[in-house]
Amino acid sequence: MASHPERMLKQIEHKPGKKAVFLKHNMPKKRKHGFATSVCIRCGRKGWGHTGKYGLEYCRICFREVAEELGFSKFM
Ligand SMILES: [Zn+2]
Repeated sequence: MASHPERMLKQIEHKPGKKAVFLKHNMPKKRKHGFATSVCIRCGRKGWGHTGKYGLEYCRICFREVAEELGFSKFM
């Protein structure tokens, strides 16, 4: 698997058939659930330590920074 498939596209951008096959086999898999689906809306960090409660979608670091602005008085 190519680590940066977008860069390799430059070589085959004028060959639509080859480009389609390349994308099919080399782009990262679109995930429906699991580790990589929880992405912070503020910084883009993904993985554990994600707050999805109350529809916030922040990582633990961003949550600590914005929690008081949002009105949370008790958080850690
Ligand atoms: Zn974040």
